[in-house]
Amino acid sequence: MFSSFFSIIILCGAIVQDVYSWGVIGHSVVAHLAQSQLTDEASHWVKSLVPWYLSGNLTAVAIWADDILYPDTNSFGYPNWQWSRPLHYINTPAWACNYDSSRDCINGVCIEGALKNYSKRAIDANLDDVQHQEALMFLVHYVADIHQPLHVGFQEDNGGNRVRGYFMNETYPTNLHSLWDSGLLNIRLSRDFGSNITSYYEYVHTLMISQTPTTSDDDFNQWIRESSKVVCQQVYLDETNMTMNASVNFTLGDIYYERNIGIIEQRLAQGSRRLSVLFNRLAANRPMVPSRCEKLCSNMIKLIVLMCITLKSFLS
Ligand SMILES: [Zn+2]
Repeated sequence: MFSSFFSIIILCGAIVQDVYSWGVIGHSVVAHLAQSQLTDEASHWVKSLVPWYLSGNLTAVAIWADDILYPDTNSFGYPNWQWSRPLHYINTPAWACNYDSSRDCINGVCIEGALKNYSKRAIDANLDDVQHQEALMFLVHYVADIHQPLHVGFQEDNGGNRVRGYFMNETYPTNLHSLWDSGLLNIRLSRDFGSNITSYYEYVHTLMISQTPTTSDDDFNQWIRESSKVVCQQVYLDETNMTMNASVNFTLGDIYYERNIGIIEQRLAQGSRRLSVLFNRLAANRPMVPSRCEKLCSNMIKLIVLMCITLKSFLS
């Protein structure tokens, strides 16, 4: 049964905003749309791992991997999860514009390493239900994160977190990473969808089904290269096409929003489709282990046979 620890984290996470990756909107879109594309087999598998009280709702665990890191959402346990912090991103040298795993993912400690590791662990017959569940909850989060371009960002400015400035005439400063996590999406949802997440799911769903499936849907390295390309070609260009950096505050508004919101939505649609492809593949490839009921029934049959044999020899 799902541990009370996980339960507390997930319930707390529902009421505290995420600040370190795609916000609640981005992660919800990816998890919700991916779940709509699962095969029956994968759907059953996912539902068997999502905590029972969430009725199989994958979206409800989509930001668990962030929630465990912060005292707001994990008051007592957050120090124990700090090891997982570097698994949400890749940092490259500034303007390297490529990914080199031997340089950027030493000992597999980065988002690519995490995707590989938890893809194995999610279906490893030697692990238990809680470990499978943990792997699933990391995967639903990391597949979304890797499609946020600044999760393949520059080491020197901490993935855009140190590039600060002002957006849409607001008086308090923000930063580039936050804009790509949630700032641009918040504007989109409130301007064009009446802040109705269900309408927005439908919109991104139409984008997702219009994308052509490719072999790269299964290729973590390709996802990384795509994010890196967006970072180098789009993210850092301000409204006058000058390159932004950590030493000068930016001022961004509608021009930046209009130029980039479509890219963000394409990344959400890709992430959604690819998460479903991953889960469908894992569900199809997982070793068939007897369920608890099957194990119990098998043991009971053995016991009954043994009792019959004993009884027969006693009566003869
Ligand atoms: Zn994250």
